[in-house]
Amino acid sequence: MLNSKTSRLDPGGTIGILGGGQLGRMTSLAAAPLGYGCHIYTPEEESPAGQVSEKVTVASYEDENALRTFAEKVDVITYEFENIPLDSALFLQKLRPVYPDPSILGISQHRGAEKQFALDNGVEVAPYEIVTNKVDLREAIDIIGMPSILKTCRFGYDGKGQSKISDIGQVAQAWEALSTTDAILEKFVEFEKEISVIIARNITGECSAYPPAENNHKNHILDTTIVPANITNSTHSLAIAIATNLAQAMDLVGLLAVEMFVLPNGKVVMNEIAPRPHNSGHWTQDGARTSQFEQFVRAITGQKLGSTEIIFPTKMKNLIGDDVNDWFKYIEIPNAKIHLYGKKESKVGRKMGHINILGDNDT
Ligand code: ADP
Ligand code: MG
Repeated sequence: MLNSKTSRLDPGGTIGILGGGQLGRMTSLAAAPLGYGCHIYTPEEESPAGQVSEKVTVASYEDENALRTFAEKVDVITYEFENIPLDSALFLQKLRPVYPDPSILGISQHRGAEKQFALDNGVEVAPYEIVTNKVDLREAIDIIGMPSILKTCRFGYDGKGQSKISDIGQVAQAWEALSTTDAILEKFVEFEKEISVIIARNITGECSAYPPAENNHKNHILDTTIVPANITNSTHSLAIAIATNLAQAMDLVGLLAVEMFVLPNGKVVMNEIAPRPHNSGHWTQDGARTSQFEQFVRAITGQKLGSTEIIFPTKMKNLIGDDVNDWFKYIEIPNAKIHLYGKKESKVGRKMGHINILGDNDT
């Protein structure tokens, strides 16, 4: 339980994490030195997070009995990915504190809700229209123009559930390919670069952002992140201001990753948010005074936040699919730190691990 005098979780407490992926794994590994155990709840028998955690419950996210038993065994609950059912988070919240609040999870689960929330708080996003059928889509194209990107509002990740429309002849195919009635058409942003800011806010409202990171994608999947980002001071300040504004507006407790586009004129447009540790924050494990995972644990246990200072310029490189077979090359490089996720099988496009190369931030 949270200590009633300090509103903090004392060492020895247990953090419950919904989701068994690599983000849960690295959170669990960061919680241990602070004295916390993690209890993972996942439908997966063999999970990256389960392998390194004190306890694991393998059950469906809809199993209320299993959810109740899980809640009774933990002190505070969080989640490591957005696609857990909102109802499960709301159910758990009746039993234990859930951070970030499920209302934030709800916003992040829907691209339309996410963009509306940004606009309501004065944060610019790409022009967009919600579309529910092919006729809507044609109308949306008339309003927004081309090129544009059609995305499913829910469950998209690593570029899945998206297609670019550059020609009116592509409309029918783009619509069929999505197989949904809840989609969004966004104007294609001719950005100069992509950056992200990870911000933490704790139970007492203390807020701290990491410096913006610069992200490069390959096949729609994050390939490298470099820090510090090669941006102007004014872009840096705009990005931090956007993240701070959003974190405060949603009364965040935990971490929020904000993906943004930098326009050629230096302006910054929000792309999407994730209320959890983020792939573009993995550099912090070796390149920052406090890793994003430790910061996350601090935030949800009511502890003071750690320093977000960069201690080494860093390049994070994702090991996707068979890239993981190159780990033997990296293990020989003194300034390369390897982080593997314990996934048994490598598949095309699957995130298997990452490398943090210290002292290197060339794009
Ligand atoms: P997800 O990461 O959930 O798959 P994103 O919305 O972040 O979805 O899209 C993935 C990538 O596709 C972005 O990082 C960016 O490179 C590109 N992209 C997405 N939306 C736009 C847009 N409106 N204009 C230009 N590029 C985009
Ligand atoms: Mg994204």
